[in-house]
Formats: sequence, structure tokens, C-alpha cells
Amino acid sequence: MTSQRTRDRLIERLREKGIRNEEVLRVMQTMPRHLFVDEALSHRAYEDSALPIGHGQTISQPFTVARMTEILLSRGVPEKVLEVGTGSGYQAAILSRLVPQVLSVERIAPLINQARERFYALNIHNITLKHSDGSWGWPQYAPYPAIIVTAAPEDVPKTLLDQLAPGGIMIIPVGSQSGVQKLFLITRTATAEGEEFVRTELDPVKFVPFMGSIRK
Ligand code: SAM
Repeated sequence: MTSQRTRDRLIERLREKGIRNEEVLRVMQTMPRHLFVDEALSHRAYEDSALPIGHGQTISQPFTVARMTEILLSRGVPEKVLEVGTGSGYQAAILSRLVPQVLSVERIAPLINQARERFYALNIHNITLKHSDGSWGWPQYAPYPAIIVTAAPEDVPKTLLDQLAPGGIMIIPVGSQSGVQKLFLITRTATAEGEEFVRTELDPVKFVPFMGSIRK
């Protein structure tokens, strides 16, 4: 169930659902998603579905990962990306094969530790992790040409907008747990008067909540 044929079928499915970026598909075809979930769930790793990773969290659905990554690369390859919500580390691992530098923050300590071990085992060395509340972004490496948020706040955190570089883009799901959540593309754009944040509404999505504060 983790064979290359099973992985190839997932990639075909992503193509059928409209993913067009061949680089993204190539990286997802080779990334062993089964190593990012508990062994008991590895037989389901190449289904196009979100799966539990413990602590009430999930590894995102492959289609969602592909779609967000494709959008993130739609203006060219950013030199670095800030991810909020490391979770299993899968999205960061995909990004690490496509962009030079990935910074990723996660509020749950054991998830960060597991992700770090996975990156080491997979020989991935361009991801820097931090146990932190993503509401604060990561000022040390700001500004960011690209930010990807993989948990849904009810409103876009202002600090993250502030850490976006001029011309930078943010992909973020926004909405409540009980109501509708939508994926947004936000671009920091220069105008005659100064600058503005242009929001484009994309697909309806379902993400775990974006929570303030950290957990040991
Ligand atoms: N990118 C992840 C992956 O590939 O597995 C998806 C993980 S899950 C959908 C979202 C993650 O965001 C969870 O691990 C959750 O703990 C984390 N999270 C939620 N709110 C956060 C916050 N304020 N700061 C940092 N991480 C947060």
C-alpha cells in the first residue's frame, strides 16, 4: 500500500482534480507520505484524504497540499517561505524540494520533535523549525516573500501581514470551525498612495483551528 504504483495513482488523481504544476506533482510523487503518519495508518497514506497525527491535529489532504503549493509558486519561486503549522512536517518537506529555504513554526512541541526526526531521516536540511505561536510569525527571518498558513484563524493575524515582504504572497485558510472556511491568497501590493493587501478568495476548505499560545 506504500508502493510506487499506489503513489502514482495519487498523482493521477491530483492531475484529474486540476493540479497542473509538474514540479509539484513530481515532488509529491517521490515524497514518502507514509513516513509522516503513524505506522498503523501508513496503508492509507496515499489516499487523497487528511489523516490524524495525534494531539487532535491532522496531516492535510494531498490535494490541499498540492493546491496551496501550486499557488505559492504561481508568481515564481520565492527565496524563502514561512509556514505556520508544521504538523507532521509533510507540507514543509514538499516545499523544501521546491524553494531554497523553509522556516516553519508549530505550537505543539512533540510534533516539532517528530518532524525534526523525519527531516533528518530524509536528508532534508533546508528547513528551520521553531516551537512557537505562529500568531507572532517569525520576526528573525522576516520579511517573507511567501507565507503559508496550514491552520484556520477567524481573521488573518496582523503580525503575519506585517512580516510579508512588498510584493509577497500569503496563502491562508480563514473561517470558523462550525461555519464556512475559505482559502485566501493575499498579496502585498504597492499603490500610488502607499501599499495595500489584495485578497483573492479561492476554494472552500476545512482546516483545524489556528490557536493562540503554545503547548509543551
Ligand atoms: N502542514 C501540516 C502538515 O503538513 O502536516 C498540517 C498540519 S495541521 C492541518 C495544522 C497545524 O497547525 C497543527 O499541527 C497545529 O498544531 C498547528 N497550529 C495551529 N495553530 C497554530 C499557531 N498559532 N501557531 C503554530 N502552529 C499552529
